[in-house]
Amino acid sequence: MKLYIPDESAMITLGCRLAAVLPDSGLVVTLHGDLGAGKTTLVRAILRTLGVTGHVRSPTYTLVEPYDIGGRRAWHLDLYRLSDPEELEFLGIRDLDPANDLIFIEWPERGRGLLPPIDLAIDIAVAEPGGRKVTLSPQTKRAEAMPHQGQFSRGM
Ligand code: ADP
Ligand code: MG
Repeated sequence: MKLYIPDESAMITLGCRLAAVLPDSGLVVTLHGDLGAGKTTLVRAILRTLGVTGHVRSPTYTLVEPYDIGGRRAWHLDLYRLSDPEELEFLGIRDLDPANDLIFIEWPERGRGLLPPIDLAIDIAVAEPGGRKVTLSPQTKRAEAMPHQGQFSRGM
């Protein structure tokens, strides 16, 4: 599914709408797109909607930020600066539980071969003038089971 997202506030609205249809099981979501595309903006909006309070910082330098959402685990990874795949081991990637956790991964291509199977691939591309084209590609049954999806673009 492709959406046109005209501005940052529409991206935040998309994050709210996605958060509302996430499954109770785990979900592995990858975010693909250039620097500044809006990957962190979207994940931040999802996490805030799920109840993360305070500053949701970009895992640019830490590579991994864990969250506890009322007893449920969420993870936000940004692998842009991953220099050696082994680094992921030291960052506690073995604690990721794709059956139960919500896992958001920016720059998944840098962790190829080390990451759990992807449920939902999100691609964000800059689209003139200033907007973004967002493509949502469910890869598994549990992503396909998320309520659809015309609703995501309503009023944007
Ligand atoms: P990434 O994580 O992909 O590197 P960020 O989310 O950190 O990107 O930054 C995106 C930047 O682009 C922010 O400064 C945001 O204000 C800006 N921006 C402009 N238009 C949009 C849009 N339509 N959606 C998301 N971000 C946008
Ligand atoms: Mg980012």
